[in-house]
Amino acid sequence: MNTNELTALLNEDRTARLMANITRRAARLFQDGYIATPTMSGLFVQTFQVVSPEGKRYSVKVSKTNAEPGTFFGDKCSCPCFAEVKTCKHLQAVRLELEQDAALEAQAEREEEARTFFAEAACAY
Ligand SMILES: [Zn+2]
Repeated sequence: MNTNELTALLNEDRTARLMANITRRAARLFQDGYIATPTMSGLFVQTFQVVSPEGKRYSVKVSKTNAEPGTFFGDKCSCPCFAEVKTCKHLQAVRLELEQDAALEAQAEREEEARTFFAEAACAY
């Protein structure tokens, strides 16, 4: 293995550890005291302001399209991590929250449908 290969391998390892760390931090970002406030909901993107417990503010943009992160319709965060690796804990935490909200909403809808079904069935007999 030459020096270039070794450098590439070390960088790969560093990126893998960084990605794992981002995912781990994102999963508990709001428990750690960060607060996300929706600022805009459009057809292609939703934006949020994320504030850290120390009061640092980040602008997070969540794409509703498959656009490349960092592009006009793509995911984006104003933090230095995103600038480096095109993802970050703020973005992933907001995405997780949105997915959980959508899952809860879908479940509530299914329960409402079931209630309506049984209420109508009860009326029919
Ligand atoms: Zn960020």
